[in-house]
Parts: sequence; C-alpha cells; structure tokens
Amino acid sequence: MQKYDFIVIGAGMGGLSVANFLAKYNKKVLVLEKHNIPGGLVTSFARQGVHFDLGIHGLYELKEKQAIPQFLEFWGAPQIETVPCRGDMYCFIDGKKHVFRHGKVMDDFKREFPEFAADIDKLFNVMETINTEMFSGTEAPEPPYDMNLFQLIKFGMKSRKQKPMFMKYGNKDVKKVLDQFTNSEGLKSTIYSYCPYPMVFMAFAYQWGVFSNNEYPKAGMQAIPNAAVISLKHMGGVLKLNSEVTEILVRDGHAYGVRTKAGDEYRGKVISGVSPQYTYRWIKGDEKYVGKMVTRIADKEIFPSICALFIALDDTYDIGNVECISIAGSEDYRKRPQEFTADSAPIVINIYPKREGDKYRPLVALIPLTYAYEDYWKTSGGDGRGDAYRTLKLRVEGTILNRITKHLGDEFSKAVVFHELSTPITYERYTYSEHGSFMGWAVEEKDFGKYMKQRTDIKDLFLVGQWVFPGFGVAGVMASGYYLAKELLKSEGTDLKKDFNEYFKPSSS
Ligand SMILES: Cc1cc2nc3c(=O)[nH]c(=O)nc-3n(C[C@H](O)[C@H](O)[C@H](O)COP(=O)(O)OP(=O)(O)OC[C@H]3O[C@@H](n4cnc5c(N)ncnc54)[C@H](O)[C@@H]3O)c2cc1C
Repeated sequence: MQKYDFIVIGAGMGGLSVANFLAKYNKKVLVLEKHNIPGGLVTSFARQGVHFDLGIHGLYELKEKQAIPQFLEFWGAPQIETVPCRGDMYCFIDGKKHVFRHGKVMDDFKREFPEFAADIDKLFNVMETINTEMFSGTEAPEPPYDMNLFQLIKFGMKSRKQKPMFMKYGNKDVKKVLDQFTNSEGLKSTIYSYCPYPMVFMAFAYQWGVFSNNEYPKAGMQAIPNAAVISLKHMGGVLKLNSEVTEILVRDGHAYGVRTKAGDEYRGKVISGVSPQYTYRWIKGDEKYVGKMVTRIADKEIFPSICALFIALDDTYDIGNVECISIAGSEDYRKRPQEFTADSAPIVINIYPKREGDKYRPLVALIPLTYAYEDYWKTSGGDGRGDAYRTLKLRVEGTILNRITKHLGDEFSKAVVFHELSTPITYERYTYSEHGSFMGWAVEEKDFGKYMKQRTDIKDLFLVGQWVFPGFGVAGVMASGYYLAKELLKSEGTDLKKDFNEYFKPSSS
C-alpha cells in the first residue's frame, strides 16, 4: 500500500493536466492509466506501419500563445512541433460537390450558392462576431456554478451587453439559427456537414472560423500527452500504465484511495478523469452517497457517439491539397443522430499529413451512428461483442467505404490499402467514457451552460475532464485540470490564477 497526496484515475488530457498542476506545487501525485499509453482520446496508434489519431484533426489551440502550448510551458513540458493545416474542403451535398479553398471560404460559399449571397453575408458576419465575442477578454471565466444568484444575474446582464451576438445566436440550436438566416437547404446542410451533430450554433461558428487555420503535431496527437508526461515525471509525479482502477475506497463519506484490477492499493485523495457514470460504479464502502449522485445525472443527455473508419491510402490516388471532405444529405441538419443509418449518415473525412517514415497516408472518416444503433451494435443480447457485432461492424464498414468510393471514384477505392472501423462500443471499451462519448455531455441549447462540478458529494473525490466545467476538447479538459487544481490548492494559500496570469504577463521591457 503506497501513499500519495492525490491519485488520478486516467491519463487522458484532463487527468494529466490536473496531475501536472498539482505536481508543480510539490504535491505527491500518482496517475493510474489502464491503457499501455497515455492520452485517452488523444492517443495515436499504428496499423501496418501507418500512424492514426483517434479522429482529432488539427487544433487551433495548438497555435503559439494559445491554450495548449501555454499549459505545457507552465508545467515545463517540451513544446510541440507542429505543421500547419492549410488545406481545402470538399462538401458533397446530395452528391453535388462544393469546393471551399483555404483562405477563400466565404467567396467560395458565394460562388457555390450565388442566389443566396446575401444570406451568406449575414451568416458569416454573425459567425465572425460570435468568434470575436467568444475570444474577447483574456481572463479565464469563473465556473458559473460557483456564482451566487446575484452574481449570476450580473453575469447574464454583462454578457448580454458585451457579447450580444453570442447571446442571441451562439447559444441557440444550430437548426434554429440556420432556418432563421436562409431558406437554402444546400447552404444549411453544407454548414452543418462539417460537424454533423446537433449542437449550439457557436460550435459551427468556431469550426468554420478556424477552418484551414489549425496546427497538427508533427509527431501526431500522441505528442501532446507525451509532453505532459515528461513534465509530470520531471516534477516528481508518477504515471503507472496498464493499471486499471476497479475500486474507489470510501469510508464515512470520505474517499481515501483506490484498488486496481491487479489488487494493488494506493492511498490518497482521488481525482477521476473518467466519465462520472463509470467512476460512480467503482465506489466501494459507502454506496449510500452514490444513489443521489447517480440520480442527479441520470437524465442528462450525452453527446452523440461516433464511429471512426481508419483508412490508409497509397500514393496512386492524388487527394490534392484537401484536409477535409464531408458527405451529407440536404436535410441532415434537421435530423437527430438516431435517425441515421450506415446508408444515410453524414460522413466527415479528416485527411492527415503522412507521418515521416510511414508508407501510406492516414484518413479518418467520422460517422455519427449512435451507441444504441441496431440494438446497441448487437451487443445487448448478453453475448457481448460476439459474431453478430463483428458481422454488423463489417457491414457498416463496407457500406461507408462504398459511399465514399461513390463520391471519390474507383481510383480512391483501389488506393485503399487498409481500413478498420471503430464503433461507439470500441470507444467506450478503450476509455470507459459512457456510451463512447467523445465530448462528454450534449451541447444543445437546453443543456448548454449546465456544467457539472468537479467536486462530488464524497469528500476528497473529484472529477476532471470532458464531463465537468468547462467541458470537452483538448484545451477544454486541460482547463478543467487548471480549475480543479486552483480549487484544491486554494486551501493552502496558493493562488494558481494569479501565478498563471503573472507567468504569462507580457514583460514591460
Ligand atoms: C473522433 C474525435 C474527434 C475529436 N475532435 C476534437 C477536436 O477537433 N478538438 C478538440 O479539442 N477535441 C476533440 N475531441 C475531443 C477530445 O479528444 C476529448 O474531449 C478529450 O480528449 C477528453 O479528455 P478526457 O481527459 O476528459 O478523457 P479521456 O481522453 O477519455 O481520458 C480518460 C482516460 O482514463 C483512462 N481510464 C478509464 N478508466 C480507467 C480506469 N478504471 N483505470 C485507469 N484508467 C482509466 C482511459 O484509458 C483514458 O486514458 C475529439 C475526440 C474524438 C474521439
């Protein structure tokens, strides 16, 4: 039995972030990760000599002075060498190809939908203003659940004054906003097809705003968790891989350690970087607290799951300077993910640079098929992932590949040297993210702003990562680590916010 100040469950970017912040302030931290590599949803893997990421494409937050390099620098981690993503985009809507070039997106929207040029002007003006408002103010926001009623009202009034466009359209459902600005089904579906999930409009403003202006780590996404592990170890933190936590030990409403599958026991305050649903199932010793915690999240909607089709492409197919291809139907923006089948679901293909030393180019096609698709992917019959699951997976894989080939031609199909499908069941199995969610809770109008706290009802049991404030995304979960560490260090007089701001204050010289 070994003693630590904090035990972090999971080496996802949320867990690694809080571990780094705490280790920086001399806390004895242990991170336990069930997988053989760190990173969770930010890991990369190789098949037949080709390196794939789990589906994240370029990240705007990897740019100089943005959140990810800032966090890494604060921890003393090595900086990440990146390559710019400056490609074009093809959107196929009902089979019709629309081309959007790097740096010319708005002009190209007008060329593709000339009769709706005025709508495009208005929509892009709103999207641009939402982005400006979103990024105005450099101070990190305080979690809204920390505010009392008076502060919340004041915050609401201030936001309405300072961020009018964001408050009017940014936090409304995408369908509602698109319907308000244009009658063109093609235009609406093209905008939707880039990130085809029902979300608030700000997500689309952001995606199109940073399109073709992102950075990709030269060594793949795995470079981000790897850098965070280097700083953690440098500051005395410990990471144990292949260590699955199976029990969180609780006595008298107080978490005091964990037990792993291998039977090892570690003592310390517990921080879980895993979905709350799984975390609560591991609580042993004082289950009476669990019922209330489970009830509180029982009706919260989870972000729709996805499938990912990993494809390796040889050089016989010239894909050009394209970084993304979307395939969608003209009414998809009206639909819920539950309505999609393998034959009809939108497809977003992220095209990655070929890694140095790799023979083939990696592509990842993302398809919003739900966790419950075809009777939970034929796994609910009690036989887990049996033959029926594998047969369905192959069928979906074949259908998606055929649909892509129909749009890109037989030459594309001939250049495919490898393909493999991940389902929401795969994502859940690897990360214990409930339903395989890759974003935590749903981000629709009715859910937006209802953040889950990092503190739980159990003393010394905390949550970090995409399910708690400020939510999903690599930079988001790293920020959740900052917020939790700020809280935890406060009791001993450390002002993390002040230290962080001081560190990045422009020097007066
Ligand atoms: C296809 C795809 C596209 C995405 N696109 C973007 C994007 O464009 N931009 C963006 O910012 N973000 C994107 N994301 C989202 C982003 O990757 C996630 O929001 C974020 O990485 C989640 O981090 P986390 O630390 O909360 O959780 P996770 O990464 O899920 O980490 C949890 C960790 O806990 C480990 N674990 C689970 N159970 C145990 C246990 N019992 N014991 C020990 N360890 C355990 C898991 O193995 C995992 O390593 C995308 C994700 C995917 C999959």
